[in-house]
Amino acid sequence: MKFVTDMDDMMLDELSEIWDDIRENYDTSNNSSYDRTVLDCAADLAADPGGDSAYAWAIGLAMMAPYLTWLPAAGVAQQAVTALEAADRALRDRSCPHSSHPYESHDDEADEDLAGLLPALADETADWNEERPRDEWRCPRNAAGFARIALDIVHPGSATDIPPRLPLEAKDSISTLSALLHGYPKPWTDINDEISGQGADLSHADPADRAGRLQVVRAVTWYAVSGMVRKKSVLDGLAEAVEKVLPHFAGSDCAHDGHPALPDSGPNAAELGIRLSSAGGRAIYERGRIASGRDAPLDEVVCPVLMAEIANQTLAQLRERREELFGERDTSHADAEYLRADGRLDIEKLVERTDHKSWNEKHADDLGLWAARRHGQSADDRDRAVLLLVAHQTMKISYPSPPLSVVRGVLATMRAVAAAHLPAECPHEDEHPALRRAEFRAGMAHFWAPEEFTPGEDSRSAESWTCPRFAAAVAEETIRDLAGLYEEEELADAG
Ligand SMILES: [Zn+2]
Ligand SMILES: [Zn+2]
Ligand SMILES: [Zn+2]
Repeated sequence: MKFVTDMDDMMLDELSEIWDDIRENYDTSNNSSYDRTVLDCAADLAADPGGDSAYAWAIGLAMMAPYLTWLPAAGVAQQAVTALEAADRALRDRSCPHSSHPYESHDDEADEDLAGLLPALADETADWNEERPRDEWRCPRNAAGFARIALDIVHPGSATDIPPRLPLEAKDSISTLSALLHGYPKPWTDINDEISGQGADLSHADPADRAGRLQVVRAVTWYAVSGMVRKKSVLDGLAEAVEKVLPHFAGSDCAHDGHPALPDSGPNAAELGIRLSSAGGRAIYERGRIASGRDAPLDEVVCPVLMAEIANQTLAQLRERREELFGERDTSHADAEYLRADGRLDIEKLVERTDHKSWNEKHADDLGLWAARRHGQSADDRDRAVLLLVAHQTMKISYPSPPLSVVRGVLATMRAVAAAHLPAECPHEDEHPALRRAEFRAGMAHFWAPEEFTPGEDSRSAESWTCPRFAAAVAEETIRDLAGLYEEEELADAG
C-alpha cells in the first residue's frame, strides 16, 4: 500500500502528470490504463479515507473525474464514488484553525493548476508560491471539499457546499450546438439527431430544468425551420416536445413588471438555455449576474409566464413552417403573378424570375412548383417547353434547397418527362439550347414570343426548344439535382 508520506516526490510528480493527462484527454476511446489509474487512486483513498494522504487521492480523483463521465469500465466509477464518499464523511467535520479553504473558490478553470501544485503540496521543503497556505490545502476539510468536487463532476448536482460547476455534458452540448447553429457543424454531428435530441431532452426534463431546455428548443427551432432540415419527423418531434411541456407553463402568474429579452442569435440562445438546464449552470448564471451587475435575475429568465410565451411562439413557428416545408403547397396565387390578363404566360416575368440572383430565391419554390404543375396540364408545346425550363431553373435558385412539397411536385413532372418515349433522332438540325443562364433566358423569350423579343447570338430553332430529347435531358438533370434531397419514402407520402 502506498501513502504520499512514504512516496518520494518523484512519484507524486509522475502520478500527477498521469492524472493530468487523463483530465485533459478524458474523452478518448475506452482506455484500460485510465481505469487502472483511477482504481489505484480510489483504492489508496478507500484504504484510509481519513488519513493524512487523503487530500492527494481526493485531488487526484477530482482531476480524473471527467473520465468517469465518459467510458470507464463497469464498476470503476462506483469504486471511486464509494471511496470519495467515505473520505467526505471522515473528513468534512474535522475541526481546524482555518476560516476558509481553497476548495471553496476552486472552479473548473483552476483544475489545470492542480497537477503543478500537488508535488509541492506533499513536500514541505518545496517552494510554495500559491495564494493560499500549504496547510489550508492539506487540511482534512479541504480534502473533503475536493472529494465532493469529484463527486459533483461524476454525478452533477450530487454534492453540496462546493462552487457550482457546469456539467461536462452541458459543456459538450454548448460546443456542439454552437458549431451547428453557426452553420459549421462538427464533422461527427448528425444534425437531425442532434436537433431531435434537444426535443427529447425537453420532454424528459426535470421541472427545474424545463425552462432552460425550452430555450434550447427555441434556439434549434430557428435552424430546423430554415430549410436546412429535410426530415419532417424532426420538426414533428420538436413540436410534440413543446406541446408536452406547455401545460406546465400555461396559465401561470408572476409579479414581474416585465421580462428580459432572451438572446436572439441561435448559438447564444442555445448556450443560455443549456446553462439554465442544470443546477450548476443556474448557480453560475446567478453568480455571474451578481458579480457583473448585468443580466436579468434568474427567476425572470426562467419565469413560467415568459416560458408560456416562448413555448407558444416556438410552436406557432414550427407548425407554420412545417406546413410550408412539408405540407401540400397551394400555388393558385401564382396564376395572378405569372399569367397575363389574357391567360397566356407572362414570359417577361418568367425570364426575370429565372435569373439566378439572390433576390429571386424567395420566389423560386412557389414558381418552380407552379410551373411543374402547369406543365402537366398544358397541351401547348411552347408553353410546356418554357414551364419545364422554369421548373428546372428555379430548383437551382431555391435556397438553401427546395422544401419537400416542391421537390415532390417538380420530381413528378420531371420523371414523367424523362420517362416519355423518345424519337431516335432529333427532329431538328441545330443544337439544343444552351442551359447557361443568360443565353437560355434571352433565347427562351425569343422562342416563346419571336415577334416581341429579338433573337440572341446563338438563337435556336423552335423545334430545338420543343424537342422531346432536349426536354428529357433537362428533366434528367433536374432529377439528379433533386433526387438525393429527401428519402424516397418521404417523397411518396402525400400530404
Ligand atoms: Zn482547515
Ligand atoms: Zn414573470
Ligand atoms: Zn433535339
